[in-house]
Amino acid sequence: MALDHEIKSQLIPYLDYIEQNVVLKVSAGSDDLSAKVLEFVREIAELSDKVSVEAATLERTPSFAVDRADSVSGIAFAGLPLGHEFTSFVMALLQVSGRRPKIEDELIEQIKALDIRLDFTSYISLSCHNCPEVVQALNIMSVLNPNISHTMVEGSGFKAEVEAKQVMSVPAVHLNGEEFGGGRMTIEQIMAKLGASVDVSALGNKEPYDVLVVGGGPAGAAAAIYAARKGIRTGLLAESIGGQVLETLGIENIIGQKYTEGPKFMAEVEAHVRAYPVDIIPAQRASKLERKEILELTLNSGAVLKSKTIVLATGARWRSIGVPGELAFKNKGIAYCPHCDGPLFAGKDVAVIGGGNSGVEAAIDLAGTSKHVTVIEFLPELKADSVLQNRLYSLPNVTVITNAQTKEIAGSGKVERITYADRDSGQDTTIDIAGVFILIGLMPNTEWLDGVVDRTRIGEIIVDKHGAASLPGVFAAGDCTDSAYKQIIISMGSGATAALGAFDYLIRND
Ligand SMILES: Cc1cc2nc3c(=O)[nH]c(=O)nc-3n(C[C@H](O)[C@H](O)[C@H](O)COP(=O)(O)OP(=O)(O)OC[C@H]3O[C@@H](n4cnc5c(N)ncnc54)[C@H](O)[C@@H]3O)c2cc1C
Repeated sequence: MALDHEIKSQLIPYLDYIEQNVVLKVSAGSDDLSAKVLEFVREIAELSDKVSVEAATLERTPSFAVDRADSVSGIAFAGLPLGHEFTSFVMALLQVSGRRPKIEDELIEQIKALDIRLDFTSYISLSCHNCPEVVQALNIMSVLNPNISHTMVEGSGFKAEVEAKQVMSVPAVHLNGEEFGGGRMTIEQIMAKLGASVDVSALGNKEPYDVLVVGGGPAGAAAAIYAARKGIRTGLLAESIGGQVLETLGIENIIGQKYTEGPKFMAEVEAHVRAYPVDIIPAQRASKLERKEILELTLNSGAVLKSKTIVLATGARWRSIGVPGELAFKNKGIAYCPHCDGPLFAGKDVAVIGGGNSGVEAAIDLAGTSKHVTVIEFLPELKADSVLQNRLYSLPNVTVITNAQTKEIAGSGKVERITYADRDSGQDTTIDIAGVFILIGLMPNTEWLDGVVDRTRIGEIIVDKHGAASLPGVFAAGDCTDSAYKQIIISMGSGATAALGAFDYLIRND
């Protein structure tokens, strides 16, 4: 049985939303995976009389296309879309049947207007929580435009292809056979990468805001909700809505929710923001902030937004180690997400740089699938919680190297070796590895604010108890500030504080 009883009972209500008949066209051989794919599509068809199965010959075996009886959608799944991709499959089924994708009308028109042939392939792993967003975005594009096709390839079922294409990080997206991009990408970001132009004049013509929030993570979302609830004109601009929380799966410290998962939680947060009259501007990056008569925020696209107050909630990103090879081998063996990319290194030797909680958790996770894990920590001791260290040291396939400075990551075309030096003796050691996971902490996304607001030595925006930064009318919240602790509820609390601080400022100064 491909689908267990629980999944089937969860799926049945969704199948009622199928509008027009859908055909699952299956290319299957006599191998085990083909048998599983056949079982999967047949079980789906048994649950709905609007779904049928047909044999077909497709580019990959096993794979299946999701088409309407009267038209081809361009969507195919190679391997089994289970795990995190089951939702992608269900959404594809509904959208191919005629359900409208939940994206803005303007974006739908932009996608329909693409008049070149675009054949996408996305390489994913079922444990990757960043992958479904990309798969679902490309599926939507395929459904909307007959010039576009998308095949999701589940890496473990197509190892030879994954090796040949040197896919070492997922999601990896190829377009017309060439590398197109990697990592989490929203549909707006994919469109921007394709050169679909942003209407700069439409953005620049927007009326000034009372509060403009920069950042769509927990801090920005909380600030936008608090501001909108005051009845003032609120905007929210974000490069990628969701923030760092999208990178984590199990979350157990949001008070009132014993357990949730990052993507699910942030989808709920986004829906909460959208329930208010907040003008959301996605897939845009702020690059300059100036105080003229009013605050002016310049975006990468060249558009300028105006606001009486600004809440900066730009969060943080993974810190890089700054050694030769790090940039060259990004997505070619250098990774930051063990959940996503761990399966690509199954049975291989890997290194984890960083002995804090994230690094040690990653090493424990990787030890389950990799042949051997070497943890390299700069300090004389690991910094992770003792419970994690105890677990790490109990694992037979882990070596911990402390007091070691990483000097180089090397290889030809992909990561093959790492060199570190003992910080006391200065002696270099080089070990052969196939992958390096760099988990040495985070740095605030505030470089673009240099000289605009006061920041700490490490770039965090300095705020007072109202969330106010040094430039009048500018407030900040969350991981981009000098708050002592960086957590979801702390970011949300500071987002609320910054919005209330901005409201207070408007009352006194407007
Ligand atoms: C792997 C991992 C696991 C975690 N697990 C937990 C956990 O279990 N519990 C917990 O409480 N916390 C956890 N955290 C920490 C938590 O995710 C952060 O504290 C929180 O996300 C910070 O929220 P934020 O809104 O300040 O910033 P972020 O979440 O970093 O959001 C920043 C936002 O700003 C946008 N942005 C950045 N620069 C620009 C720009 N120039 N222009 C426009 N937009 C921009 C980004 O696109 C994003 O939307 C975890 C973090 C990581 C990385």
